[in-house]
Amino acid sequence: MTLPHRVDRSEGKPLVAVVGGGASATLLAAHLLRRAGAVPRLLLIDRDGLHGRGQAYSTQDSNHLLNARAANMSGVQDDPGHLLDWTCSQGIEASGEDFLPRPLYGRYLRNLLDASARARPGHLTELTGTVLALEAEPLTGGWKLHLADGTSHLADAVVLAVGNQAPSRLLWQPPAHRYIADPWRRGALDVIDDDAPVLIVGTGLTMVDLAISLTGQDPDRVVHAVSRHGLLPRPHHPPPRPPEAGIVLPAEPMSLRELLRWSRLAVRGNGGEWHGFVDAVRPHVPALWGRLSEADRRRFLDLVARHWEVHRHRIPPASAARIDALRAAGRLRVLRGRIDEVRTDAEHRLAVRIASDGEAAEVNVGWLVNGTGPAAGPATDTFLSGLVSAGIARPGPLGLGLDADAGGAVRDAAGRPHPNVFTLGPPLRGVRYETTAIPEIRAQAAVLADRLALLGRSAHRASSRENQAIPT
Ligand SMILES: Cc1cc2nc3c(=O)[nH]c(=O)nc-3n(C[C@H](O)[C@H](O)[C@H](O)COP(=O)(O)OP(=O)(O)OC[C@H]3O[C@@H](n4cnc5c(N)ncnc54)[C@H](O)[C@@H]3O)c2cc1C
Repeated sequence: MTLPHRVDRSEGKPLVAVVGGGASATLLAAHLLRRAGAVPRLLLIDRDGLHGRGQAYSTQDSNHLLNARAANMSGVQDDPGHLLDWTCSQGIEASGEDFLPRPLYGRYLRNLLDASARARPGHLTELTGTVLALEAEPLTGGWKLHLADGTSHLADAVVLAVGNQAPSRLLWQPPAHRYIADPWRRGALDVIDDDAPVLIVGTGLTMVDLAISLTGQDPDRVVHAVSRHGLLPRPHHPPPRPPEAGIVLPAEPMSLRELLRWSRLAVRGNGGEWHGFVDAVRPHVPALWGRLSEADRRRFLDLVARHWEVHRHRIPPASAARIDALRAAGRLRVLRGRIDEVRTDAEHRLAVRIASDGEAAEVNVGWLVNGTGPAAGPATDTFLSGLVSAGIARPGPLGLGLDADAGGAVRDAAGRPHPNVFTLGPPLRGVRYETTAIPEIRAQAAVLADRLALLGRSAHRASSRENQAIPT
């Protein structure tokens, strides 16, 4: 069978295909297209057509708030006031201390993408489609991207801005019609068509969003949430006090034990104020993570990560108050334990047995939602696992995300960084550990934009041929 493929031609400028159109792609476009000098063109391919907003910021629920203050959420690396200038231009009163609604932030990102396109007419194309595979183009040194609709596109370079993976499969198999495997899929919660209680597996940020939405949509809804540790994200306090002396990293090498001792001492030196320490140490996490041995990184994931997460990923005071009120009213019940059985009862509802400390309790619910958060590695994603099978990429350290060099160049099966395949944001989890929030993505986008601009001047000209459909 011959399939059409499109060769994009536009003034002979190199083309960078970006797989994904969410926040990572948007911040990359903003840093690349707003800079001076020659830049390549960008083709943003997003499965869900969520260009600009992506998964996190396409929510329509205005009770979903950013979990960081507006002052930290600018989309532009060298312009910290960019978000607040935009809110002001929209007639929205906001201060740097505010936790803005996520739908509003989605509008901001969409606007940033539009403004970036206007800055470089003809340099940005948005396409809705699913990329299934990459194929090397030996003649040009570029890549051919194969899409699910049967088309393919040639590009000089590829950026994998694919975001978080869907949650991992749970160990047991609940009946499919009462189970929501990925609550972030568009319209995933729409199948909940009665007011039966819902059990969410996971007690982190995903659970907070789901509990707020589910109880907001139905005033009688009761939500249960279970995790092995039963820990909830901590609330933000008034802007924390950073350590006066700043963060002075200990000399390498460092073991996990030394890192924890150093952290305890630093918090003590900060008068016991941990919020400020956590925020101040966050930019150094990639360096600290890189210094730990593999065994210590694994130990960190097993023993420390969940404590780091609840202190690092704090929720706004308004969300915390809502969660507290739901718990006080008995509408949100947080359980500690492990699910060890799911049965369907006579009314086709679910009887879920939860074991904890040698005891077992049963909860009866209508719906079960996998709120465990993104899967760690590429295995759950057909496209990424295909890249790994083809030797184009390999999993990142400890199987987290994808392996890449310090500048985001994806490493092939042999560990060699590609000159023209990059990634940023969540897929760098194994390499950098702290990589999913806007401040980290924005910094990576700025660095990658510099790199792509260089590529733009010297790259192969795969995209300089006719823009036409031709048989393969
Ligand atoms: C619910 C939630 C709330 C958050 N809140 C905050 C916050 O308040 N502050 C903060 O700093 N950070 C927050 N984050 C973290 C961070 O901002 C996001 O993870 C960030 O938006 C990641 O953007 P992304 O573009 O990498 O991924 P995404 O937004 O997921 O975009 C990736 C896109 O790629 C598409 N895609 C994937 N594979 C393919 C393929 N093969 N072909 C075509 N398209 C594909 C997907 O459909 C998706 O639209 C939040 C994250 C989540 C999930």
